[in-house]
Amino acid sequence: MQLTFYGATEQVTGSCFLLQTSKAKILIDCGAVQGEQACATTNLDDFPFEAASITVALVTHAHFDHTGRLPKLVRDGFNGIIYATTPTKSLAHIVLEDSLSVMRDQAAKCGHGVPFEEADVVVCMAHMKGVSYGEQVEIAPGVVAMFHDAGHILGSSYITLSVDGSETASGKPERIVFSGDLGNDNTPILPDTEPLDHADVLICEATYGDKVHDDMVTRGDKLATVVNSVIGRGGTLMIPAFSIERTQELLYELDILLGDKKIPEVPIYLDSPLAIRATEIYRDCKSYLVFDHPASNDGDFFAFPNLHETLTQQESQAINLDHRPKIIIAGNGMMSGGRILHHMLRYLSEEKSGLLIVGYQAAYTLGRQIQDGAKVVEIFHDKVTVHATIFNIEAFSAHGDRTKLTKFIYPLHGAVPKIFLTHGENDIKQRFADYLKTQGITDVTIPRLNQMFEL
Ligand SMILES: [Zn+2]
Repeated sequence: MQLTFYGATEQVTGSCFLLQTSKAKILIDCGAVQGEQACATTNLDDFPFEAASITVALVTHAHFDHTGRLPKLVRDGFNGIIYATTPTKSLAHIVLEDSLSVMRDQAAKCGHGVPFEEADVVVCMAHMKGVSYGEQVEIAPGVVAMFHDAGHILGSSYITLSVDGSETASGKPERIVFSGDLGNDNTPILPDTEPLDHADVLICEATYGDKVHDDMVTRGDKLATVVNSVIGRGGTLMIPAFSIERTQELLYELDILLGDKKIPEVPIYLDSPLAIRATEIYRDCKSYLVFDHPASNDGDFFAFPNLHETLTQQESQAINLDHRPKIIIAGNGMMSGGRILHHMLRYLSEEKSGLLIVGYQAAYTLGRQIQDGAKVVEIFHDKVTVHATIFNIEAFSAHGDRTKLTKFIYPLHGAVPKIFLTHGENDIKQRFADYLKTQGITDVTIPRLNQMFEL
């Protein structure tokens, strides 16, 4: 059996792994590469494998860096089943649809093609089959897959593959585990990551492998402090939000803070069509969520009277006419595109305004520049001087920190013997690998792009 790393090696995004047995080629995730230099064409490149030769695909969760090349996979000849949890299927649909306009804009600007069209998304969705957590699915001869709640976003999973001994180098049945992205524990609205029972080989994300996050329980208070400081001086608070999960967590926290009268009732704009549609799916999938606080009077965890969902472009532009202190939640989270740029153009140079970073900022993105303290940035070819206050609340991160990742790596039946670290910048993965060695875990590999391993 061979395992090849076709993505998420030297960078956080582009998740794509291939497990090949004697009878099947199993693709785990098929995500887009994000956060590259402008006009990069990586997502247009041919796959380094024959798409038509892939037997089956599994998807850990709906984020674009795990799903973004699935329509291209189908377009290039893949004709098998794509397994994902049922909420992931719903979310992946809107994520892929939403990506079309962004890709078209970029293609027009850079003079290159698009990786897929609307029709490819339709066909891709027809291949996708929703499964439940804990359901045993025989995805190929001698390989049984199971999805487990990863607590990262709605529907997110880590996937265990139980492989028959006839396929393994040891001659014994083995359990190969793909972590996907792992969330933090004690996250409001999401269950904790299901503990891993055991694993022989673990492909583990390490996005925050060298960080220990702020305390989760104080993040509501920190959010209130940021809101009150910007609103108190009459400014606009911009929150570039990842449309899935972070936005719903923010709405949930704001709902609680407003209910407790810890922040004033200023207009709050949710200015992202994707986030608005995703929030609808969250409302429909309440049974997958865990709420540690009763909903406010309206019975809706994600809405309050001063919330304005601006779906259309006209509604979005009308926010400009509102001169009151306000909060604007807009995508995209890394500020590499989307409606947030229009608001940044207007408010980033205002001393009384603020921008709150609540998620990972990939290299080369505008978000990373701002996080790193850039004083002047370029938005739509305009130079903008940053006078607004930049805030950062790491506890909103949807990725587990070093403590969480280490906990996951020690399953119920002793530490995982063999680990591959993915999804992290190289120095971060190296620091995490060094840390794991101090914890007695020595067989840790940091694979390179396209590197193959015999299992
Ligand atoms: Zn993710």
